[in-house]
Amino acid sequence: MSKDYKFFNLENCQLCGKCLSECPELALPLEQAKKEKAKINQGEISPWLSHLCTGCFNCDFYCPNNAQPCETIVYHWWQEYKEKGLRERAAILCLLRSSIFAPM
Ligand code: SF4
Ligand code: SF4
Repeated sequence: MSKDYKFFNLENCQLCGKCLSECPELALPLEQAKKEKAKINQGEISPWLSHLCTGCFNCDFYCPNNAQPCETIVYHWWQEYKEKGLRERAAILCLLRSSIFAPM
């Protein structure tokens, strides 16, 4: 794994895919959810999370193994922010962003 997560319990993750299949926004078919979660656990940026995830953090409650997968999503967003900067819609909403977001 490329990142030592603080709250995500990698050892608890059985790659069952429930977090991404029960997610109200992604609702991936189970087999696809398993594959996507495996990639996310390796630190890969997931286009599914980029385009559809709203950050509701409910996936922590869907996980039957208390792995707390939300941190992988927050980390993913941080990675994307570092690489591509603030998303356009966020930039519009965060008028004071220069004082909120430190320069990268
Ligand atoms: S935080 Fe994102 S991935 Fe998790 S349940 Fe909410 S929308 Fe789905
Ligand atoms: S984080 Fe939890 S719900 Fe998601 S794949 Fe791993 S064990 Fe399953």
